[in-house]
Amino acid sequence: MTAHLPSWQKDLAAGFSNPEALLQYLKLDFKAYSAQARDDFSMRVPLSYAACMQKGEPSDPLLMQVLPIADELNNPVDFQDDPVGDLAAITENCIIHKYQGRVLLIITGGCAINCRFCFRRNFPYANVQLNTQKEGIALNYIRGNSTIHEVILSGGDPLLLSDQRLKALLQKLSSIAHIKRIRIHTRLPIVLSTRVTTELIRILNNLPIPVIMVMHCNHAHELSEQVITACLALKQPNITLLNQSVLLKGINDNAQVLQALSEKLFTTGVLPYYLHLLDKAKGTAHFEMSQIKAIKLHQKLQQVLPGYLVPKLVKEQQGEVAKTLII
Ligand SMILES: *Cc1c(COP(=O)(O)O)cnc(C)c1O
Ligand code: SF4
Repeated sequence: MTAHLPSWQKDLAAGFSNPEALLQYLKLDFKAYSAQARDDFSMRVPLSYAACMQKGEPSDPLLMQVLPIADELNNPVDFQDDPVGDLAAITENCIIHKYQGRVLLIITGGCAINCRFCFRRNFPYANVQLNTQKEGIALNYIRGNSTIHEVILSGGDPLLLSDQRLKALLQKLSSIAHIKRIRIHTRLPIVLSTRVTTELIRILNNLPIPVIMVMHCNHAHELSEQVITACLALKQPNITLLNQSVLLKGINDNAQVLQALSEKLFTTGVLPYYLHLLDKAKGTAHFEMSQIKAIKLHQKLQQVLPGYLVPKLVKEQQGEVAKTLII
């Protein structure tokens, strides 16, 4: 059977899920992880992502994003399961309608990579993700509300859907008269670039309404030649490429690293969009950077980069009508 799977699905299945195997591959002490943290939130790392890590470097910025460690077991009270109030905002079991004109559709709970800092790491996906039944209900909700102009496919990673299922969904959404744009929030072009198939590009580029793809890349080391080639192939007339990053202590919390990221994104055909302050999800406290330091860092970026390469520094706050700009 697997012979008939698209090659990206084979790459997905071949990733590291055992921390010891990953550490051995990187020539690091195989005990440098926490089994308990792994049990709380499993490890998932595509081979192509691991290949971008430096061998023998325990504080590699890519490794730190994916390795389960004991720090995750520290639980300050202000770090919670649903830090941004998504659950309260869910309608029809799979739609988050918090902001005017935009709805977020939870397509799948799965991701190709499990980022340790993920704000949805404790999210009860099984109850909310889209299935065929819910898809009909979601489409009715969107059809019935003409104030909605943009549908955001999110997750998990929406690009884990097969080309066929994605195409069917996108065609239904784009046939709704008041939907003017479709947005896809995905980390797959960065962490599993074989997902960017010729067919995917064709589907997105041929839709009757524009597609905005918002990638998630946190460090220039994630932009390998393979990733750059995939992103440049996605750069089509109907597709706008943007990036969002999360500010992560010890990983990208300095101006040179963020400057290098913005500059490399530009040569990859992608413009920086948002730089998020960490959402306070349980298990992620060790990644937090103070807001004061974040503001200083952002000011430094404004000094060294052209304006179009400076991402907006934002934070998601429960109950707000938009992301909060930090200045
Ligand atoms: C971030 C987010 C959006 C999109 O916000 P933009 O500022 O348009 O990028 C939409 N809905 C939800 C629930 C979000 O969290
Ligand atoms: S790819 Fe995005 S949704 Fe998936 S684990 Fe990483 S941060 Fe979370």
